[in-house]
Amino acid sequence: MKRVLVTGAAGFLGSHLCDRFIKEGFYVIGMDNYITGDKKNLAHLANHPRFEFIKHDVTEFVEIEGNLDYILHFASPASPIDYLKIPIQTLKVGSLGTHNLLGLAKAKDARILIASTSEVYGDPLVHPQTEDYYGNVNTIGPRGVYDEAKRFQESITMAYHRFHGLETRIVRIFNTYGPRMRLNDGRVIPAFIGQALRGEDLTVFGDGLQTRSFCYVDDQVEGIYRLLLSDYAYPVNIGNPHEITIKDFAEEIIRLTGTKQKIVYKDLPQNDPLQRQPDISLAKKILNWEPKIDRAEGMKITYNYFKTLTKEELFKSEH
Ligand code: NAD
Ligand code: UDP
Repeated sequence: MKRVLVTGAAGFLGSHLCDRFIKEGFYVIGMDNYITGDKKNLAHLANHPRFEFIKHDVTEFVEIEGNLDYILHFASPASPIDYLKIPIQTLKVGSLGTHNLLGLAKAKDARILIASTSEVYGDPLVHPQTEDYYGNVNTIGPRGVYDEAKRFQESITMAYHRFHGLETRIVRIFNTYGPRMRLNDGRVIPAFIGQALRGEDLTVFGDGLQTRSFCYVDDQVEGIYRLLLSDYAYPVNIGNPHEITIKDFAEEIIRLTGTKQKIVYKDLPQNDPLQRQPDISLAKKILNWEPKIDRAEGMKITYNYFKTLTKEELFKSEH
């Protein structure tokens, strides 16, 4: 039986990855320190005979008993308000954490896939973004802690690949959404849906003409799974190229939820990228992958998930 370690397992993407590997017949070890994750995301796997959970901060030496075939390093705060709140931990998990996991992969002779991000392109001057674009990042801006940690993560991963011959994979994930996103993580989808469910106005930052391209989680997981099993060691964009302005997206959510609330405009956060759309030609070519779930379908499933939250969860504020 193949054994896989997933870091960030109690988070949004990590928990969906654990589900996928369980479904594929793997033995899955989930690791997380719960800094932005939630035990609830893994509750359904608690008694599964092929699942175990280790509570651990991956910036500390990581020890696993027995062999490992694959490691997926997904531990990291991922939403702007999270990494602004815990900037040093964000830098540490991308740098020290990644170093520890690369060392573990080398010791276990395992293949490792690391979760990079479209944020390595910063506020991009090339549109849509192709993997050969070097990016436009403000190293000292508030988002720099995340962007630069991820850029370092890519560099050290390639160094382990080139210097130690380690089998490495790098996925550059573009905005992904779905069930188990944290309601109060500040990302635009939980923010808008939460506001609609609470009967609050929807807060659009800036003029709302900035764009994003949203990928449903099942499509993202499929792309990651295929990349892991491929033989391609360089970064690959995985995301949905269907681009929309944030203002139009807010209007879509108003229609989806039937809320009577209106849009209100707030200041655009510093260094908020003005446009973002993945070029997925490479993923199509080498992984035969493209997203299958359109936004209307994915958003319906996501809205239904948020509707299952209790009143207490809906009105609990973390920030
Ligand atoms: P998330 O916050 O839901 O999950 C991250 C998990 O990592 C949390 O459970 C958190 O507790 C855990 N974690 C953080 N620091 C840790 C540490 N030091 N030790 C152990 N666990 C730690 O975020 P997510 O959206 O699931 O993102 C997962 C990964 O995917 C991140 O690496 C993120 O950068 C990347 N990513 C996500 C998106 C997206 O749209 N969701 C986009 C680009 C990249
Ligand atoms: N955004 C917004 N209102 C909100 C939350 C976010 O208008 O309540 C905007 C944000 O400024 C950005 C876009 O939505 O332009 C996507 O933000 P998110 O935090 O989801 O992801 P990221 O900026 O990391 O792509």
